[in-house]
Amino acid sequence: MNNITLTSVSKEYGKTKAVDNVDLAVSAGECLALVGHNGAGKSTLIKMVLGLISPTMGNVSVMGHNPMTAPFNGVRRDIGFLPEQVLFQNNMTGRETLEFYARLKGLTRDGLDDLFRRVDLMYAADDRIATYSKGMRQRLGLAQALIGSPKLLILDEPTSGLDPVSRQNVYSIINDMKSAGTTILISSHALTELDSRVDRVAIINRGKLLALGSIADLRQNIGLASEIKVHAPVNSMKIMTQHFGDKCFVNGVAQFSCPADEKIAFLKELMGLNISLADIEVNDPSLEQVFMALTQTEGHVHE
Ligand code: ATP
Repeated sequence: MNNITLTSVSKEYGKTKAVDNVDLAVSAGECLALVGHNGAGKSTLIKMVLGLISPTMGNVSVMGHNPMTAPFNGVRRDIGFLPEQVLFQNNMTGRETLEFYARLKGLTRDGLDDLFRRVDLMYAADDRIATYSKGMRQRLGLAQALIGSPKLLILDEPTSGLDPVSRQNVYSIINDMKSAGTTILISSHALTELDSRVDRVAIINRGKLLALGSIADLRQNIGLASEIKVHAPVNSMKIMTQHFGDKCFVNGVAQFSCPADEKIAFLKELMGLNISLADIEVNDPSLEQVFMALTQTEGHVHE
């Protein structure tokens, strides 16, 4: 079952096609990352999913409803949203803020302490937001999005302004929510963080959906090779030179470039030489490399 379905969705602002004919389905319990340059259309897409703006063309369905229609109000309490810029009332405390948002969802204050603990803010729950740092406001924003254990969690740049420990904690929360069956849509520029943490990635470029799939699929589809580095004693290096030629040696290390589906065959061939090896590093192309390879050929600025 899909929790979000976009069918031929476009959003135009005058001549700007912020979102251009996008088809996308996010299934229940899936974690999908939206990635793209500044101005690619990610926030516009999220706003349409939330029913904050209507598409110029196409259909949006979220948990079985069109977000621009009245019945969608009934499912809003099942959606948690962390906006790109979190703005709170400075003169309220963290606790008053979460109580306010809980009331908006028709919920009591029960469970709010758990949320403060989860985002590591219990120590400041009764402090005024004016005293919060940027990272603390961001974590309060995440706690706000988690109120009521939403079935759909939409996070626009959730790790923006966070230190490494807090970033790690965000992904641990995302993982817990996913295990509990929550569907997660996350927009992020922090591509290295997303590697191995999301199920699929949607690469948006100039409003268009450029690529969609698991990071492994995207790597495979665009044929980016893995890099294999072999460290070995001099004698072994000589045997490798006889076998593979000397072109692969850089600064005394043997380096091979190998398509993902040929990695195992290459490693078998290497082991077949029966030489002693000190270390082997296998580096698959990162999401960042996949993203750069895909968007550089397309260009990324709206005309
Ligand atoms: P960022 O990573 O910088 O947050 P984004 O991918 O979220 O970017 P959007 O905010 O969706 O990008 O913007 C997509 C395009 O739509 C941009 O060209 C932007 O200038 C334009 N745009 C967005 N909102 C409006 C608006 N209300 N009026 C006019 N143009 C808009």
